[in-house]
Amino acid sequence: MSIRKWRLSALSTALAVIVFSGPISAQEAGKSAAGLPIFYEELTTPEFVEAVIRSGSTCVIPLGILEKHGPHLPLGTDLIDCREVARRAAEQEYTIIYPAYYVGQIFEAKHQPGTIAYSTGLMLDLLQATCDELARNGITKIILLNGHGGNESFLRFFCQVQLASKKDYAVYLFDPSDDSSMEAALKELRKTTIDGHAGEEETSVMLAHRPDLAHLDRAGQQSGEDQKRLANLKHAYTGIWWYASQPNHYRGDGSYGNKELGELALNLEAKLLAEMIRSVKQDTVTLELQKRFFEDAEKPLKTKQ
Ligand SMILES: [Zn+2]
Repeated sequence: MSIRKWRLSALSTALAVIVFSGPISAQEAGKSAAGLPIFYEELTTPEFVEAVIRSGSTCVIPLGILEKHGPHLPLGTDLIDCREVARRAAEQEYTIIYPAYYVGQIFEAKHQPGTIAYSTGLMLDLLQATCDELARNGITKIILLNGHGGNESFLRFFCQVQLASKKDYAVYLFDPSDDSSMEAALKELRKTTIDGHAGEEETSVMLAHRPDLAHLDRAGQQSGEDQKRLANLKHAYTGIWWYASQPNHYRGDGSYGNKELGELALNLEAKLLAEMIRSVKQDTVTLELQKRFFEDAEKPLKTKQ
């Protein structure tokens, strides 16, 4: 779907709300879900209280990182892009979007200028403390939206760690199942086969919403080829794998970036995220099961054998 069509359909939904809810005062309009800011940092305190209710106690934390993105995209690419996905999703299904969050796993790029690689303990503690503080403010359903490939194992581990001690909130990681029609639509527009970091797709996404930050003419200044330096190692995983393959911290060729592909990728992700937010709002099972689990975990000998 093109952005123009998407905007038109969002607009007609908004108009339908106004038409069918009858005449409303300016004050009420300011309190409607559509009228509330979606970015946490832009809410006033009275609006925040309203936003917690309107969002069904949900908040999305988009997670990015400060790392090189080839020779042509900015250090903050991952967060800049995933906050845009979150923004588009929140316009479809109201939620609160947490401010800029740049703390995650990025040791593999420490040899590149500009990388900020915090310690493992800090990564875990800061994210946990952020979730604790959100929950203390009534946000009991926290959605992690990962924009950075290097965070994948860390965030799954973080979700597992939530069971270590009793909590009255739940953490959900956006984990869209493969959608073959979506993949086919994206494949149709793709020109390259090797991609993954600052390549065709990521460059396209930046071109779609922040073209001023995508310097296509510089994308060919370095190689994003897979150097396959561990090709002889069989059935093994090792932390140096990424550096072995992509020492320039670049995979793919950003010169092939195109706005149309980026727009499609952004809108498809946003649609899936909006679906997830809707289902998280409706979900009562996770918190109920967590509660039962924590009670049982306090007295394992009483668990029926
Ligand atoms: Zn990236």
